[in-house]
Amino acid sequence: MSPLPPGTVHLADVDAHRLVEWLDGGPRTVIVPAGALEQHGPHLPLGTDALLSGRIAAAVAGQVGALVAPTFSFGYKSQQKSGGGDHLTGTTSLDAQTLIQLTRDVVGSLLRQGVHRVVLLNGHYENYQFLYEGVDLALRDRGITAGDDRCVLLLSYWDYVSDNSLAAVYGDAFPGWDVEHGGVLETSLMLHLEPGSVWLDRAPDHPPARPPRFDRLPVVPDRTPSSGCLSAPTGSSAEHGRLLLEQVVRDLSADLRAELG
Ligand code: ZN
Ligand code: MN
Repeated sequence: MSPLPPGTVHLADVDAHRLVEWLDGGPRTVIVPAGALEQHGPHLPLGTDALLSGRIAAAVAGQVGALVAPTFSFGYKSQQKSGGGDHLTGTTSLDAQTLIQLTRDVVGSLLRQGVHRVVLLNGHYENYQFLYEGVDLALRDRGITAGDDRCVLLLSYWDYVSDNSLAAVYGDAFPGWDVEHGGVLETSLMLHLEPGSVWLDRAPDHPPARPPRFDRLPVVPDRTPSSGCLSAPTGSSAEHGRLLLEQVVRDLSADLRAELG
């Protein structure tokens, strides 16, 4: 039995006394969504990655009885081959050290309070290795090694999109996750979850970006499509978004139940 009011999923909505009771009731899981403030073309808001990771986390938390921490609203620097680049207006980013330290502090604090399982749910491509590093340092700080009951899971939500969903949404035109920036996945999920924040009449239609195999710094701005999208959202729909959300939440929840009990 949870001492929390039915339907509670956000850690920020819980009072400290009920939180103590909840933590005393068994090994508990807190999900930390990680996003970004990043340009997403003319048809999606800057907060897209943060909003999507937060909403997916809340849906999963409702399925598995976890709580969701406040979302990391800024992320690591957008890169030209995966997010258009950090030179673009609206993109407001953290240095790697800042994101590593943020992750280390938040994960370490949750573990210190008695949260046994922390899940970092990433929604911004460039964050991943720095979240990983922050988790590794938080575990090292607390001397948590293999065999300990306490653990941290780390994932990017698009890795849960199944082959069936890919075929249903893209046909045979899937451009790859690195260039899914402002494209069909994010636009469809936003149309389903937050339709008032999508401006489809402004959506670009162009072939996927074909960046070189190397990174060049400083970037050559012309290599980012002028839309800011690395692939076009053509073919997006709220129905595709619903299908993607339901499938990802179902499979991710099943994985967390199997892994964390
Ligand atoms: Zn994005
Ligand atoms: Mn991103």
